[in-house]
Amino acid sequence: MDLTANEAEEVVRAECRAWLEENLPWDYGTGLPPRFEDLAEEVAFGRRWQALLAEGRWVGLAWPEEYGGRSAGPLVNFVVTEELARARAPELVGRIGVNLVGPTLLAHGTDDQRSRWLPEILSAGHLWCQLFSEPGAGSDLASLSTRATRDDAAGGWHLDGQKVWTSYAQFADFGLCLARTDPDAPRHHGISALAVDMHAPGVEVRPLVQSTGEAEFNEVFFDGAFVPDEHLIGPVNEGWRVSQSTLGHERGVNPRQLVIHVQHLEELLRLAQATGAFDDVRLRRQLASAYTEIKLFQLHNWRSLTKLASGREPGPEGSALKLYWSEASQRLHATALDVLGDDAPLWRGADGLAGDGEWQRSWLYYLSSSIFAGTNEIQRNILGERVLGLPREPRPKEPST
Ligand SMILES: Cc1cc2nc3c(=O)[nH]c(=O)nc-3n(C[C@H](O)[C@H](O)[C@H](O)COP(=O)(O)OP(=O)(O)OC[C@H]3O[C@@H](n4cnc5c(N)ncnc54)[C@H](O)[C@@H]3O)c2cc1C
Repeated sequence: MDLTANEAEEVVRAECRAWLEENLPWDYGTGLPPRFEDLAEEVAFGRRWQALLAEGRWVGLAWPEEYGGRSAGPLVNFVVTEELARARAPELVGRIGVNLVGPTLLAHGTDDQRSRWLPEILSAGHLWCQLFSEPGAGSDLASLSTRATRDDAAGGWHLDGQKVWTSYAQFADFGLCLARTDPDAPRHHGISALAVDMHAPGVEVRPLVQSTGEAEFNEVFFDGAFVPDEHLIGPVNEGWRVSQSTLGHERGVNPRQLVIHVQHLEELLRLAQATGAFDDVRLRRQLASAYTEIKLFQLHNWRSLTKLASGREPGPEGSALKLYWSEASQRLHATALDVLGDDAPLWRGADGLAGDGEWQRSWLYYLSSSIFAGTNEIQRNILGERVLGLPREPRPKEPST
């Protein structure tokens, strides 16, 4: 494992830092991005910020230059993510497009789809959502029942069905949707991947309020929504293969969560110092564990990055990483609430510390980390079967056709 950035990576780091000092909409080094009560305002701000970043070519660094990237390796991408986090830049509002849809289009899209959609993804001109999960198909995604019925005369499909837990669907312009195009084929073989225009007639988005009080995810209903032929991604009935690319990117190396958690750790340690928590032997032990776990997360990440940088796929290791960071995150957040103690629900932060119940919000949010991107039980199954070589769990029988 190589933990040092090479000269080229250090050049990009310096270039990125200089760009941020020049362009950051808040004071570099001391300021914080604005906070928004309203999610729509936050998204609008996020779009403007991402457009600015894209102008500087700081988004989608690994993408080919012809689509607005820099054809950079995973380590350069990581260095830039670190610099953005150091500047306290918020997560990309178009992260589903940039992290999941873009790589999927690069692997399976047509030239026309790539040149039409990729630049708009980078600049947040178009926001995308991921239309995979359904009320009856989450962990067992292949049992999805949203149906795309062929309409030869119109040159496309009509979609009927329902998706659920679709993050940011209410702001999305397009959705990467898995739908059944051949109901008679075995489960994994009759699915296609389609780009759905979220503003088309027959698409209805209903926000779901989550425990943080925000409505980041939604139910999406399709009632005959039309999807033209040129929105088919990959060959017809091969959507399962397409979706494996998307999911691989969702679970693989995770620089974003790493830098978020390095920030959380720094804030937690500052909070502990401010409240005198280090004087409590029990809290001191928890804080030391949080520190150690985030360092271990860093090491796991670097190991996967080193593998990626040498052209190898992280493989089932992605599951170990996801399992590790999500559980470490929940412990770190529980420690933060212990440090706050009885004041936690009413806590207001002093200057420079997360405030206004932000730790409680974050604690609630990260409870979901063991569910999203594939639940931790599923990650354990993958590790058991594909890494430890344990017997496969029984699968539902495929209908014989
Ligand atoms: C914050 C958040 C954002 C999300 N955003 C999106 C999004 O944008 N787009 C999208 O498509 N989806 C999204 N999801 C949905 C997510 O992918 C699903 O919640 C997840 O795949 C689990 O599916 P499920 O909720 O249907 O649970 P189920 O699959 O019904 O599972 C219920 C429980 O049973 C367990 N279980 C199921 N099968 C097995 C098994 N074989 N072995 C052991 N245990 C098992 C699970 O681990 C879980 O504990 C999001 C979820 C969250 C929490």
